[in-house]
Amino acid sequence: MNVKGLVFSGISCFFLLTSCATSKVPPKTVTKVIRDTVIINSKTDKPEMTRAAKLENYNVTTDYYPSISQDERVRFLVLHYTAINTELSLKVLTQKDVSSHYLINDYDDKQINLLVDETKRAWHAGISKWKGLDNLNFSSIGIEIVNLGNGTGGVFQPYPDYQIKKVGELSRDIVTRYNISPFNVVGHADIAPGRKPDPGPLFPWKKLYTDYGVGAWYDDADKYLFIQQYPWDTTSSVFITQVQTDLKKYGYEVPANGMIDTQTKNAIIAFQMHFRPEKYDGIVDAETWAILKALNKKYNP
Ligand SMILES: [Zn+2]
Repeated sequence: MNVKGLVFSGISCFFLLTSCATSKVPPKTVTKVIRDTVIINSKTDKPEMTRAAKLENYNVTTDYYPSISQDERVRFLVLHYTAINTELSLKVLTQKDVSSHYLINDYDDKQINLLVDETKRAWHAGISKWKGLDNLNFSSIGIEIVNLGNGTGGVFQPYPDYQIKKVGELSRDIVTRYNISPFNVVGHADIAPGRKPDPGPLFPWKKLYTDYGVGAWYDDADKYLFIQQYPWDTTSSVFITQVQTDLKKYGYEVPANGMIDTQTKNAIIAFQMHFRPEKYDGIVDAETWAILKALNKKYNP
């Protein structure tokens, strides 16, 4: 190779190296195949490819070129009570046109039933809306808890500790794996106010937050601060519109019409059952108002 040739090859190497430096080189990966499921492990933090087409005439490659433009389909965790006993719950949730991913029985044992694979859609939320998104079956994991509450009769039943331990550990596992935001851990009542009351005012949301780090809860200091700012005139359309705006900001589906209509009142009741369960009458008193403000300050600043 003459001098001219050396210079040329040096330049082309330079361009080659430059282009290599700017393009992404796929990381070296270890591929493990279990039946038709391909799990690709990598030292880098990459998503798993767990389901893929398997074709007779084409090689659907498992080479690791993951797109960075992806996120979880699951964004919400919805908690329910079944209102019927364990035996009936299992029957209904597996043989009727309603289901959930998990069922928590009311026995003091170590069992949690998986009824629907997490990659599949369970039919638990029905007509629902949260944070502007509807039909939450598409985007949520549903947990049914055996509890004989009866919202329509206004009778609710407490949850034993051993049951809450199961709910807590399972929920913590789910929100961690899907990185579900605290305010997206909701009750059926939150996403379908007026239509559904579960898991009811006796469900210990605060305990779920303090003992398991699951879901949202307000800071007491903020609540007391806002209580002192509770306005005198709480009947004006300006005040009511602000409450509606705050409820919507947190996630509830309400209009901003300045009126305590049925939809708004039902949302307030659902909010109170979740965050102020001592009194859920649909009236925005100082404490309800302050808790709503404190939650938005913490989670939607
Ligand atoms: Zn429900």
